[in-house]
Amino acid sequence: MATLFKNIKELIQVREASIAFVSGKDMNVLPTIKGAFLVVEDGLITDFGTMENCPSNDFYEVIDATGKMILPAWCDSHTHMVYAGNREGEFVDRIKGLSYEEIAKNGGGILNSAKKLQETSESDLYDQSKARLEEVMRLGTGAVEIKSGYGLTLESELKMLRVIKCLQENYPIEIKATFLGAHAVPETYKNDKSGYLSLLIDKVLPKVAKENLAQYIDVFCETGYFTVTDTERILKAGKKYGLTPKIHVNQFTAIGGVQAGVKFNALSVDHLEIMRDKDINALKNTATMPVALPSCSYFLSIPYAPARQMIDAGLPLALATDYNPGSAPSGNMNFVVSTACIKMKMTPEEAINAATINGAYAMGLENKLGSITKGKQANLILTKPINSYGFIPYAFGDNQIESVFIKGKEII
Ligand SMILES: [Zn+2]
Repeated sequence: MATLFKNIKELIQVREASIAFVSGKDMNVLPTIKGAFLVVEDGLITDFGTMENCPSNDFYEVIDATGKMILPAWCDSHTHMVYAGNREGEFVDRIKGLSYEEIAKNGGGILNSAKKLQETSESDLYDQSKARLEEVMRLGTGAVEIKSGYGLTLESELKMLRVIKCLQENYPIEIKATFLGAHAVPETYKNDKSGYLSLLIDKVLPKVAKENLAQYIDVFCETGYFTVTDTERILKAGKKYGLTPKIHVNQFTAIGGVQAGVKFNALSVDHLEIMRDKDINALKNTATMPVALPSCSYFLSIPYAPARQMIDAGLPLALATDYNPGSAPSGNMNFVVSTACIKMKMTPEEAINAATINGAYAMGLENKLGSITKGKQANLILTKPINSYGFIPYAFGDNQIESVFIKGKEII
């Protein structure tokens, strides 16, 4: 049941040997093969090379990719795509001049999403979420991380995580689940943040672990939300249950969240719009992946993560959507890659590396996805006919996708 893709104009992100991630100057290197073939069997990449070495055996299916390119499907390592309803009302408030923080103070923001989610049944939540997942798969995403954090009660956090688990079971793409109970302090604990943290640690976490509902643990480490001390408290508790940290830090203020992440061996530290030199230095030579979320900066009109400074300092960088109802209501990785080039001055090579292999690393999937490597899953984007891969970020607001393959099967 092998499939041959032949006459591929350019096969992008080819790595003979599996690598963990790329950093610094290497981010600007995107290995490709021009005039290539690719063989997929039982959902895996089994062979590739130049057309002169194209095998001539009988294939179950042959796809002629003349004029088109193939690259690994996007790896979106940071989303909140399980949520109930939308927040376009707050969007209009912001247009009229209210800030994200002011909206939160008026009962909007995360607490608004939490209220809606608590009132939504698990099956309704599943239906809303699967529509979003299917949409991003059509946009070329082949692996995704999804967080809880709009429940903020024992029952509702578990409801969110069970929905993510159902998605994991029912869809062929890789999905990782993150427990983000410490996303905001709910109304009922308004004056007792410590009590809320105790609820998360003593009541919610044990259930999450018992039902095996999450692989990662997250905290919104930010002024007005959770301090570094709170963050360390929750990460320590998560570690006890084998949950690796992936945390929200440095979105509006730099308060030492990056350092806390590194201290607890976080797989990633995400947002990073506000980075001091000491935050960049803290990430050097660590296994913690910095993750930038340019759609959020675009939507909120806040600074973009200083990608140039980080990459020039030798760091790796991954790109993700932050798909959520409040600050990034879009799961479109094509837009993220464009915006990284246009607003963060990343080259197309850096942006594609950040959205494939580095994104895979930020989900612990670097051995399965993120590059064209023998033995990896055949989660692939087949482009429309294009002149060069630079056209992918250049043609912003559009996508150059003709077909998406997940485990070798065409989904669009
Ligand atoms: Zn987020």
